[in-house]
Formats: sequence, structure tokens, C-alpha cells
Amino acid sequence: MRIQFSIFFVTSLLVIGASRYAQQSGAPQAGVGQSASTPAAPKPEDTEMWEPVPKVVTPGVDCKAPPSDAIILFDGRNLDEWVSAKDKSPAKWIVADGVLTVKKGVGSIETKQRFRNYQLHIEWKIPANITGSGQARGNSGVFLASTGPDAGYELQVLDSYNNQTYVNGMAGSIYKQAIPLVNPSCKPGEWQKYDVAWTAPTFNPEGSLKTPAYVTVFFNGVLVQNHFELKGDTRYIGQPSYKKHDSAPIMLQAHGDPSEPISFRNIWLRKLD
Ligand code: MG
Repeated sequence: MRIQFSIFFVTSLLVIGASRYAQQSGAPQAGVGQSASTPAAPKPEDTEMWEPVPKVVTPGVDCKAPPSDAIILFDGRNLDEWVSAKDKSPAKWIVADGVLTVKKGVGSIETKQRFRNYQLHIEWKIPANITGSGQARGNSGVFLASTGPDAGYELQVLDSYNNQTYVNGMAGSIYKQAIPLVNPSCKPGEWQKYDVAWTAPTFNPEGSLKTPAYVTVFFNGVLVQNHFELKGDTRYIGQPSYKKHDSAPIMLQAHGDPSEPISFRNIWLRKLD
């Protein structure tokens, strides 16, 4: 009995040892301590994905050039991709020297095209001679989905280099909803940039919210919004809420404050749906 038990014990040790060796060495384990009912041991190949193969996209040759699959919304030449937000007439902001400058009196402008989910790149500059304070100092905004002439989901644009205001209204905030994680603002007169991943909200047929909007924002290359879940549209007064909409334009805000108008350049987008 004792001899039989010892043989069994030694045999078990050998089997366990062989199995350990096989796992550590990456050697196939089939046939080692396996019966017909034992599932096959996991292999590295089990968790490899070979398709779909991502399509080839050529990145820009420098920091100003868009990737090869981008929709160009403004390349410095004209406003062909934009209309007035209030009446859809041709956009009347100022284009000069490759730069788009807000013309406050004529109101906000929006894209002719409508979008759902996307990656957006946009550069903006507070003029070096900016005046004013708080929300009245270089205020504009990128409405990630415009749902009316002054409605939607606003990523705030403001001079926040050295300008105190409520923190959920500073540059990089989702207006009145999300404080930026940090403040990477450059000083007035320098070009700054937003890189945005926008996931549009979806709605059920009767109008109720199906899935909320999410946004991730890099401000001058620094993460300021990390997959933030929006509570609804962004409002100057009152609580946010969702109201059913479909694909939507992107809108740039002509804010009514009297400070010097800001400028934009290099606006491009990659659809993600
Ligand atoms: Mg604004």
C-alpha cells in the first residue's frame, strides 16, 4: 500500500513538473496530463486579433497638416464649409492671411455638414491686445453639436492665461458642466489648440435619452477632459438636459462681450461613425 502510494505521489509530481515546464517554456502541452474531456490549454494565439485591419492613414507631415482622411473645415482660404448659424446664409466672418477671425456683429457660424461622432482639431488665438476680464475676455466657444443658433454642447474658448472666472467656464471647460483637469493656457498672442474626441448622444424613438454624450479634450496637447459624460446641453442659465436631435453641425460662437475678437485656423475633423 505504502509503495503504491509512493509511486502515485512521485508520478503526480512528475506530471505537475512537466506541466509547469511546458507552461514556462511555451512548449505545447497536448498530451501532458490531459484527457479527452480537458479543455485545450490557452495559447498566445487565442487572444490575437487579425481583423479588421485598420485602414492606412497618413499623419500630417508637421503639426499644422491634417491626416489624410480628414474633412477640412478651414484651411486658411475660405469659408465654403460654413454658414451663418441663425439663417444659414453664407458665413461672414473675416478670412485674411490664412486666419479666420470672429465678426461679432453677424453672429455665430456653423458647418454646412452635420456630424455624429468625430475627432476634431481646431486652433485658436486670443489677440495679444485683449482687454476685459472674466467671461468678457476673449470669449468664444466650440459647440461640439449645435442644436440651435445659441444652443448645443459648448467647449469653452476664453483667455484663461491670467484671468479669473468661474472654473466651469474657463478655457477647456464643458461650459457650466466640467472643470478642466488642469490649465495649460498659453498667453494671448500665441496659437493654442484643441483636439477633441466627441461621442454624440443617442435617443430613443419617443425622444428619451438612449446614451449620453461623452467628450475627451486635449488642450495644447494636455488632457483636460477625460471621457466626460455630459448631463445634457450647456446652458448659461439653468440645469442641462437632453432634447432629442440627430446629426448636428459644429458651431463657433460669436460672443457678445466687447473684447477684441479671437481667431481660428487649421480646423479639421475625422468622422468616427
Ligand atoms: Mg463661450
